[in-house]
Amino acid sequence: MKYFSTRGDKTAVSASEAIIRGIAPDGGLYVPEEIPQFGLTMAEIAGMDYQSLAYEVLKLYLTDFTKDELLYCVKNAYGNGFDDEKLAPVIEKNGVYFLELFHGRTLAFKDMALSILPHFLTVALKKQGIDKELLILTATSGDTGKAALAGFADVPGMRIVVFYPVGGVSEVQRLQMVTQEGGNTCVVGVRGNFDDTQNGVKQIFADSALIAELAEKGVQLSSANSINIGRLVPQIVYYFYAYAQLLKNGAIKDGEKINFVVPTGNFGNILAGYYAKKMGLPVDRLICASNSNKVLYDFFKTEKYDKKREFILTVSPSMDILISSNLERLLYDLSGKDSEKIAGLMEKLNADGSYEFNTDGSGIFAEFADENETFAAIKKIHGHGYVMDTHTAVAYAAYEKYLAQNSDGTKAVIVSTASPYKFGADVLKAITSQDYSDFTPAQLFAEINKTSGVEIPEAIVGLDEKEVLHKAVCDKNEMRKFAK
Ligand SMILES: *Cc1c(COP(=O)(O)O)cnc(C)c1O
Repeated sequence: MKYFSTRGDKTAVSASEAIIRGIAPDGGLYVPEEIPQFGLTMAEIAGMDYQSLAYEVLKLYLTDFTKDELLYCVKNAYGNGFDDEKLAPVIEKNGVYFLELFHGRTLAFKDMALSILPHFLTVALKKQGIDKELLILTATSGDTGKAALAGFADVPGMRIVVFYPVGGVSEVQRLQMVTQEGGNTCVVGVRGNFDDTQNGVKQIFADSALIAELAEKGVQLSSANSINIGRLVPQIVYYFYAYAQLLKNGAIKDGEKINFVVPTGNFGNILAGYYAKKMGLPVDRLICASNSNKVLYDFFKTEKYDKKREFILTVSPSMDILISSNLERLLYDLSGKDSEKIAGLMEKLNADGSYEFNTDGSGIFAEFADENETFAAIKKIHGHGYVMDTHTAVAYAAYEKYLAQNSDGTKAVIVSTASPYKFGADVLKAITSQDYSDFTPAQLFAEINKTSGVEIPEAIVGLDEKEVLHKAVCDKNEMRKFAK
């Protein structure tokens, strides 16, 4: 399997090269030359465990990895570090299914991919005979940062710098990052929003003078953001896994089409669902759920992508994004791989802040939920004995709005992206209408424990008492200096 840039660079690269580079030299994203067909039937995967299924999906994309190398990556990523033996269990509540993707080390779905990416990189570097040190640069809206830090901490031959928007992440997310140990980790707050932070990182990747200077010092840049194909591919696995569980439990019949509802920001998670569908997974619709930063909702409704709008800080900060990077990969596919057109659109987005594109035939339906709707969804589902985090709640609320217009009886899976423990103050506020802004993380954890009956995850026990190791804060135009 070869990989090409969405923007027209004609150089074909292998999976391991694409994973090391992160982003193509022309600023485009790497895409597989063809989305492969899944070889097994649904009946065959119904009883499969996560690791075996992961291998079956990964081998179709990472074709320059040997079987042993892939099994090594899978075993190390999905061995321990998860607090549920199924890794990503499907739970039924009130007639809908929740695919819980937050049982990893940092309590958000980012762990599903970021626990395997460092192993991919280790193997890929060896395979390519690269003896440079890798510098991972990552922009985060809260969850990628911690998941990447946990994955890369003390991995030999790699260093990681995480930039997060100051004031744009939850207190628990911030504490998780700034207390990160590991001699090769660095966390920097940026005075700006997530888009500023992501742009800053993209500019560093496009800075050929800096890249040359780093190369002289034996350092090569790479990315842990979802622009890296090494993040996207592992995310395809859990769409198959959700289906396999439903089939095994008798919730669906073999071949029955289901819907997935995905709380969306950078469009990485839902794009993995789109790839899964194209590989042959029986999916009817993918419902793209946005929060009040509903640039994607407006895009799918009006066919105009327009980022020129107010950036709103919401209770679902990991979805506070106006420039959804991975949308570029969807447009590339929908346009029939017209890289010239995609390059033009991205240039227009940069210059004018908007572009137009017809998304007919994508199978993606968009909805959004504002803050009140998000809170109401948490309260309602709490009444059914289940506590959702704020991001999952956006998806649930958007799904109810979708159902009001399209109730065809198709079963739906809500892709649940974070543990309520990460966003305790807002989750509790939604349920009790009280204010929790004065509560310490430990107090919030105790309250969530009482309210949900779910044990406090090992990963965050004692978070308040940990030493803050990363205190740096910079302006958005100083990010290059920090990376250097
Ligand atoms: C990152 C994140 C999202 C958004 O996922 P994308 O792949 O960026 O669309 C949603 N919820 C949570 C909790 C996240 O961490």
